[in-house]
Parts: sequence; structure tokens; C-alpha cells
Amino acid sequence: MSIFTEVKEQLRLRDVAEHYGLHINRAGFTNCPFHQERTASMKLYDDHFYCFGCHSSGDVITLAEKLFGLQPLDAARKLQKDFGLADIPYDYRKETRAYRERQKSLRKELEFKKWKAATYLLLTDYCSLLRKWKDEYAPKNIEEPFHPLFVESLQELSKMEYYCDLFLYGTDEDIKEFKEYEERLVKRIADRISNFRQSDLGRTNPNLGNER
Ligand SMILES: [Zn+2]
Repeated sequence: MSIFTEVKEQLRLRDVAEHYGLHINRAGFTNCPFHQERTASMKLYDDHFYCFGCHSSGDVITLAEKLFGLQPLDAARKLQKDFGLADIPYDYRKETRAYRERQKSLRKELEFKKWKAATYLLLTDYCSLLRKWKDEYAPKNIEEPFHPLFVESLQELSKMEYYCDLFLYGTDEDIKEFKEYEERLVKRIADRISNFRQSDLGRTNPNLGNER
């Protein structure tokens, strides 16, 4: 087993963060030590952290690296020492390989977090457009034909609200599954929003969804 795996398996990130002086609130957030802030926007999980402000993220070893300005191997050794873990024998080639694998999985995880944040924004944008269309273009009397934007809101709104909830309350596993199967849906929403904003209606009615 590599020193990285060993350390990660034996330590909970939250314990390590507290040990090194980060104050964790009841929601599991702490003030990010890597950017200036007054409200806590770094979320600490058992096995990783993620800052919604500066997007820094990583596992327990990354945390020690960044807090103390250490190289990964030295960070892992410091954690071993500070938490009284057994000092396992060290095989240079094996550790190098383990290090590369770890970097790769960290990169993938960060990409996923960025995708997740961007897609969530897209979904909430589309939801707020649909809600406005639903009010704004509801037929005023029984003879009035349905406006296409009203129809679109009827067709799409509940599904999109469901996806927003998924992003807010679902596990990363759920969202990764969504990512795998719904790539085209995400693309379609992005196109839909930009088409609408470039349309005459979108440009002349800034209140129809251009809040941000
Ligand atoms: Zn931060």
C-alpha cells in the first residue's frame, strides 16, 4: 500500500482540519484558509474538501500540502508523524506511481466539481426562465391560443425542477450518473438559453430571465 493510500484511509479530513486549527461549523463549512473571506465557503467532507469561493479542492494530503507549503510526500509524512500513524517503508518507484495516480484522480474530481457548478447554474437559469414564461404567457381567457413559451414551460418546468433538486440534494454518484447519460440534455439547455437571449424577445425583455 502506498503512503498516500495509507494516510488517506486512516485519517478523516475533518479531524485533520480541526487538529490544524480550522473551525468547522455545524453545516460542515469552514473559513477557507486559501482565500480571504468572511463567510465560510469551504465544505469539509470525510475524504475531501471543496471551496465554493476559490474552487480549491483535494484530499487530506492536499490539505496538509497547502496549509504547510509542502510537497505531497512530505505532507503525507507530516500527517503520519502528527497523527502517530505507523511509518511504512518507502519504495520510491511505487510512491511515484501512486503520486501520479493520485494527481490524476484529483484533477478528474476538480473537473467534475467545475462541471457540476456550471451545470447547476444552467439548470437554475432555465428554471427561472420557465417560471417567468409560465406566469407571463399564461392565456388570459379560454379562447386565447397557447403561447409557445407557455407551452415550453408546461413541458419542461417540472423536469428541470427535479434536476435542480438532484444537483442540490443528490450525492455526487447520482450527479455523475446524470452527467454520463444527460450530456445532450445539458447541451440542449445551454443552446436554448443562449438562443432565447439572442432572440428579439430575449433582448427586448431583460426581465424575462436576465437577472444575473
Ligand atoms: Zn477558498
